[in-house]
Amino acid sequence: MTNNNEDPRKKYYTDGFSEKNEDVAKSPALQKDMKPVPDCGEESYKGKGRLEGRHALITGADSGIGRAAAIAFAREGADVAFQYFPGEEPDAQEVRELIEAEGRKALLIPGDLREEGVATELINKTVEEFGDIDILVLNSGQQIAHEKLSDLSMKQVNDTFKVNIISMFEAVKAAENHLKPGSSIITTTSVQASNPSASLLDYAATKGSISNFTVGMSKYFGEKGVRVNSVAPGPIWTPLQLDNGKLEGDLETFGQTETLERAGQPVELAPVYVFLASEEASYVTGQIYGVTGGQDISL
Ligand code: NAD
Ligand code: MG
Repeated sequence: MTNNNEDPRKKYYTDGFSEKNEDVAKSPALQKDMKPVPDCGEESYKGKGRLEGRHALITGADSGIGRAAAIAFAREGADVAFQYFPGEEPDAQEVRELIEAEGRKALLIPGDLREEGVATELINKTVEEFGDIDILVLNSGQQIAHEKLSDLSMKQVNDTFKVNIISMFEAVKAAENHLKPGSSIITTTSVQASNPSASLLDYAATKGSISNFTVGMSKYFGEKGVRVNSVAPGPIWTPLQLDNGKLEGDLETFGQTETLERAGQPVELAPVYVFLASEEASYVTGQIYGVTGGQDISL
């Protein structure tokens, strides 16, 4: 009898990112223009009914990791509301089609999370449409690399904090009274929380905050029967990397020095978001799950 084991190092081809993507427009970079297009499970993710009848809201689900979670949630039986940056409409419409193809409801909410009030609006619109929220995935993030500290403007520092962590406070405050026992909050942090890069000082500081926020919120929400966890990705092939997310030249070797010798694809994160959202994680709260290709997130 043969098994279906696959060498994890060979599962995805992740070479030549720089030369193939020189012409991709930035701010926002669209997933549909990337070569190769990131794999968010469009062809491969198979649901098993683990989120039947649930109502999810995911931020930043037009592309990348959020999109992989959106596709998986819909295939597991959930209706999915999602936020995206207004310029990402073409990617967002693809995600709508993928959710609706599963016979689930899709609610598209464009919004700029640098603006106060937008995160509250997301919650209100989702509750208006779905009646409540069972799964809240706070995943939107801004990553803009800087060479020198003098290249890092205070506007960028403020914006990165607003999008990456301050909007999380606003969203959770607005959602608090809508989250019933059994609901799940999932944040997206990063290996940068524990191993910050010199070129991502503002971004890494927000990720350290997100990890801390997640553990603190899990203690606050424990008595409400709401679980709060985080996912810490390593290098994943998404539009974030092309949207000024890397210094010139750094894309060449993206992921190559990891233990598994390649960058990850968004679909490889989807099962972890599904697990944390589902009943199967009924005794899991206050945890950070690494999907890193090898980097230790506890350092
Ligand atoms: P992505 O570009 O596909 O998703 C990020 C999304 O954030 C965008 O699609 C956009 O909708 C949203 N966003 C950015 N700025 C915004 C703003 N001002 N207002 C509203 N929305 C805004 O990239 P991704 O890699 O899938 O990122 C998802 C999360 O994963 C982020 O929090 C990121 O920090 C985290 N992460 C990614 C990696 C990686 O290597 N790709 C590694 C660790 C952590
Ligand atoms: Mg996007």
